[in-house]
Amino acid sequence: MKSHFEKHVLRHPPWYPILITATLFSFLGCQQSRRESAMQQGEDPYVRQRHAMVSKQIAGRGVKDPRVLAAMEKVPRHLFVPDNIRSHAYEDSPLPIGYNQTISQPYIVAYMTEQLVLEGDERVLEVGTGSGYQAAVLAELVPEVYTIEIIEPLSVTAREQIEKAGFENVHFRVGDGYLGWPEAAPFDAIMITAAPRQIPETLIGQLRVGGRMIVPVGQWHQELLLITKKEKDYSVKKLLPVRFVPMVRSRSDE
Ligand code: SAH
Repeated sequence: MKSHFEKHVLRHPPWYPILITATLFSFLGCQQSRRESAMQQGEDPYVRQRHAMVSKQIAGRGVKDPRVLAAMEKVPRHLFVPDNIRSHAYEDSPLPIGYNQTISQPYIVAYMTEQLVLEGDERVLEVGTGSGYQAAVLAELVPEVYTIEIIEPLSVTAREQIEKAGFENVHFRVGDGYLGWPEAAPFDAIMITAAPRQIPETLIGQLRVGGRMIVPVGQWHQELLLITKKEKDYSVKKLLPVRFVPMVRSRSDE
């Protein structure tokens, strides 16, 4: 792929790449101003990009739940990434959101959401609010979302963006997700979007019997696990290898 591109460029005069770059920049600049004017008119200028994201990256890779696909089609992911990388919001990758944290790749958000098998009347806990995007996708699907973030400024920005996107069913907490949210437990489902080294048993204690938890576990080699709470214990199903930021311990626990 790369060598093909290099060969292609070498066949042209030396100023050719500069010309391509200049043209690309003016094209992107034009796209940008078109988006800005659409925004001013109250339209969502990213509808087509979001549709392409859902069909290629998400449905194209096997996510089938129509409610999850509809939520991914609807939630404005670009609101949850920093301004300077907004034009990359619908790409097939995670993106930096500051404080060494990332917003997950769209496919992973959709895949993890689908694994929770949400029917529409659940109360869901998310650990690792980050940008707030995953919380917004959950808020599109269920009536109550509780989300915990350990880095306060991320939680503050996430809340602002979720409100801007029009959601009123997300409860925010700044604190240590290992402790969960006991006053709001038991939850029908729990999604953890940072990786603990071991299965977080305290959080399983906050799931109702029959409830599901999805969690990436491990340090270097992480595995996405689907846990189902039983009467006395729980079952664990390995889903796929993943790479998430670590779920850190709060200072008071150290
Ligand atoms: N769900 C997020 C992605 C989160 S990245 C999104 O949609 O953008 C993981 C987040 O988990 C980071 O913001 C990190 O600060 C947070 N985190 C790490 N350890 C935590 C802990 N113990 N409790 C709560 N949040 C934690």
